[in-house]
Amino acid sequence: MTSSQQHGLSSDRIRGSPKVDVTHLECLICHQLLWKPVACKSCEIPFCSSCIYQWLANNPKQCPNRCQTYIERKCPPIVTKLLAEIQIACFYESNGCNQVISYEGLDKHEIECGFQFQQCPGCKSQIFKKDFDNHHNQCPSIELTCQDCKLVYKRNDTDRKHTDIICLKKQLQYLRHESKHNKCKIKKLDHQLKKTRILKPMIKKTKVTFNDLPEAITGTKWISNIYNGLNWTYIYYANELYWKKMHPKSGYITSLIPGSSPNIAYFKDSALITVGSPNKKFTFVSVTACAAWKDDLELTITGHRNFIEINTHTTKLLFGKLQFILLYWEDVDKIMFKSSGGTAHPLVSGHAGSDVVLNQVTICSLR
Ligand SMILES: [Zn+2]
Ligand SMILES: [Zn+2]
Ligand SMILES: [Zn+2]
Ligand SMILES: [Zn+2]
Ligand SMILES: [Zn+2]
Repeated sequence: MTSSQQHGLSSDRIRGSPKVDVTHLECLICHQLLWKPVACKSCEIPFCSSCIYQWLANNPKQCPNRCQTYIERKCPPIVTKLLAEIQIACFYESNGCNQVISYEGLDKHEIECGFQFQQCPGCKSQIFKKDFDNHHNQCPSIELTCQDCKLVYKRNDTDRKHTDIICLKKQLQYLRHESKHNKCKIKKLDHQLKKTRILKPMIKKTKVTFNDLPEAITGTKWISNIYNGLNWTYIYYANELYWKKMHPKSGYITSLIPGSSPNIAYFKDSALITVGSPNKKFTFVSVTACAAWKDDLELTITGHRNFIEINTHTTKLLFGKLQFILLYWEDVDKIMFKSSGGTAHPLVSGHAGSDVVLNQVTICSLR
């Protein structure tokens, strides 16, 4: 225990002959020498802080000196100054400490004083703080942990419980266990690797360019059912010769990449891509699209799985300027396109349809 936990200091502990009458420095509550004092704002009477706090807990806002309301202030400087001149014996004097300390240095000394007791975690006996390290380094009941074999044992059991042989055996055991664990881990990783190797060739990425569809020069055609394993609903296409002849000033023509795509696909307002057979799923990787007649045409694409919408993406398409839309939606069975809004492009007269040009669609499917 240090003085910080006490109320006032017993006058027995005063050493030397103080120049002041110490009775003037007594606490009105405990009648001992003031310790860590604070004062009442009205009457300026100082009290030990622990004494007044205890008092206020029972007599809220009342001054022990019967003032109106107790409001705390700092201890008057004259009292602090007088206290500072007093010399005090260490609290642990009876344990053998013969230090006499100034009032102000008392707290610090008593926290560090080597004559206070500390309990040994091994033998549980009370040891002087100054002897503690020595005792701890020798006490037979202290528990030690071997850094090599991780064994925990009491110091005086070393010869029985932690000999060199035991330590090495333990280490070997530990290593065996670890290697077993690692073998298990390697087996798991190997299994995973094999699985990915099997899976990889099964995933086929398909770029759908619409160029392998039957010729459509004199008019537009539907994409007949099951094209690249999928149903294409409300999606049409025609050869570039058709577009050049019929709509030379349209997004169909400006979207053309020279020499790359004789067929151009499109849809009006809405379209669907669905799986060719039930229970199959595919990954919708990307689509490249532009508007045929408008600017800022709003395109919304949604991905569905088992009749539930799981992905959605909205973008604005420009007239004839292809936009690459990367989605990578996995395990879908239906893709829905919807187009609306936008304003007619200045080059276009008479047409204001929400037609969307589909230049390329990329899908992955498990075969
Ligand atoms: Zn007191
Ligand atoms: Zn007062
Ligand atoms: Zn001491
Ligand atoms: Zn001990
Ligand atoms: Zn060991």
